[in-house]
Amino acid sequence: MNLLENVPLAPLTTLGVGGPARFFAEAHTEGELREAIDYSRSHKLPLFVLGGGSNLVVADEGFAGVVVHIAIKGIDESDAGDKRLFQAGAGEDWDALVAHAVKMNCAGVECLSGIPGSVGATPVQNVGAYGQEVADTITNVYALDLESGEVNEFSNEACGFAYRSSIFNTIARGRFIILGARFALEKNGAPKIEYRDLKNHFAGPGGRPTLGEVRKAVREIRHSKAMLIVEGDEDCRSAGSFFKNPIVSAAKFADLQAIAKKRGVQIPSFPAANGEVKVPAAWLVEHSGFAKGTTHGRAGISRRHALAIVNRGGATAAEVVALKDEIQRAVSGHFGIDLHPEPVFLGFETAP
Ligand SMILES: Cc1cc2nc3c(=O)[nH]c(=O)nc-3n(C[C@H](O)[C@H](O)[C@H](O)COP(=O)(O)OP(=O)(O)OC[C@H]3O[C@@H](n4cnc5c(N)ncnc54)[C@H](O)[C@@H]3O)c2cc1C
Repeated sequence: MNLLENVPLAPLTTLGVGGPARFFAEAHTEGELREAIDYSRSHKLPLFVLGGGSNLVVADEGFAGVVVHIAIKGIDESDAGDKRLFQAGAGEDWDALVAHAVKMNCAGVECLSGIPGSVGATPVQNVGAYGQEVADTITNVYALDLESGEVNEFSNEACGFAYRSSIFNTIARGRFIILGARFALEKNGAPKIEYRDLKNHFAGPGGRPTLGEVRKAVREIRHSKAMLIVEGDEDCRSAGSFFKNPIVSAAKFADLQAIAKKRGVQIPSFPAANGEVKVPAAWLVEHSGFAKGTTHGRAGISRRHALAIVNRGGATAAEVVALKDEIQRAVSGHFGIDLHPEPVFLGFETAP
């Protein structure tokens, strides 16, 4: 293991803010990962697992511990009836795996095209977009248990997947380091076109689109919203959606509808489980006074997506957090809703 000192973390994240890691190591193998863990333990330092840094806000002070970047690669493929199984190392690039699966004409992850980050992080918050989430296709997650030192194999059910969550970011947060995951995709399967933007894209004459066409459309739609990482595109210097979409009771939704009606607007919604209602956080943010393109010092809101806080160049983590706080206060004041951040915060004394 090659242990580096005082490594700037901002360039290793998509938001690009924050200070250095006191120690930094790349783990290409389980063995190197165990060395980094041993080092952090023997020096009584906290350990942080870094993937692609696309869901991360690093504090300006940095992180006074060991950051281990998971670079475990490899994709094994096999057939199981009408499914093709893709077992990928945690350090594989997620979008490259999707591109490969689509090329192999395997369905199940095409709507997750263009999401930045690593394969290993996808189960953590049950990555999802455009009507699909990884919980739909993951059969197993392989993870190192920091308590027992053993590698555990989790079934899909054991991962406890829900909207933007799993056991890995809730009840077992910080306990497991994901080494790889296995996905079962449908050979020659049909693409999923359920999300409104995708339906609109393929409306009109023409046969059923191919998986490749759906992947291309998803990436184009993402690009139009600055939700695709494109070099030089200032609006995608973000951590993606900064807040989760709140899920509210039917009664609370009726209150929201009444507030919206008074303002002469209609509040969009999506059905959630158990009769609850999912409300787009982006709508709440925009209707609380934070229009797309708002600037706030060197931080701001993306010109193409109200839910993305962006670094307009040289922003500090403090500026990002100040804007986040202001948005949360405004949404709570206007609608009585507490927005919960989606990204992970590293190096902050108290979780912002
Ligand atoms: C432009 C943009 C668009 C995005 N669009 C979406 C979207 O549509 N849907 C969506 O769900 N997300 C989206 N995201 C968020 C992000 O891409 C995902 O959450 C992604 O899975 C994070 O992967 P990462 O490797 O970058 O994780 P990191 O940011 O490096 O880490 C995130 C968390 O996962 C943990 N982690 C990472 N790897 C491992 C591992 N191997 N084992 C254990 N824990 C680990 C980290 O410790 C940290 O807590 C978007 C982000 C951006 C910047």
